[in-house]
Amino acid sequence: MNQAQAVQASRSLPGLAAPFLAFLLSAGPAFADTMKSSSTPPEGKPVPETCAPDNPLSACGLPSSVVIDMSRTQVRRSEAEWRAKLTPGQYRVAREQGTEPPFRNEFWNNHADGVYLCVGCDSPLFDAKHKFDSGTGWPSFHTPLERAFVGELRDVSHGMVRTEVHCKRCGSHLGHVFDDGPAPSGLRYCINSASLRFLTRKDYGEWLKAGRPEAAAKPAAPSKP
Ligand SMILES: [Zn+2]
Repeated sequence: MNQAQAVQASRSLPGLAAPFLAFLLSAGPAFADTMKSSSTPPEGKPVPETCAPDNPLSACGLPSSVVIDMSRTQVRRSEAEWRAKLTPGQYRVAREQGTEPPFRNEFWNNHADGVYLCVGCDSPLFDAKHKFDSGTGWPSFHTPLERAFVGELRDVSHGMVRTEVHCKRCGSHLGHVFDDGPAPSGLRYCINSASLRFLTRKDYGEWLKAGRPEAAAKPAAPSKP
């Protein structure tokens, strides 16, 4: 694939999902991260009413307690390998089903065009074209890039019934999906920034063109507790 084709392919998502699915089903754990964000959450921003603990919109702000069957994931690492790969904040969210505070995370206000990858295995999970402002302070999407990449589990922790979502390929916890989202899906994927890394559309095209290389550097920006 030459550069023009790669760029073209990157613009045709989710049509790209099919070949990527084949790639993901065949590829091993040879992935890593780079972490960059163009979003800087403002300091001191008050948490709006929508994020009150008893508001359903804020339900993403509570951690999960589902049992993800890691024996079914394609990408498996030892705990030491996960800790070496992820920042402490990413590990707590992605591997321990934690959560991050609203408006104090990397991508809630990121309006750049591009693709969000799994922080644990680089699977392309969400497209900026499907991102919307939910008012919750977490990055929210109405549609995943490819539903086959996103696993769902019934989560009954904290006295409510939620649907937990995780990366099917590596088992990293992402967040939850709710049925109060906008058209066309009516869904709201409320996702932790710590579970994602972002590539601009251009960088994503370059990354595809280069054969989805494993990045050399560990993510540089830990999420705040
Ligand atoms: Zn993953």
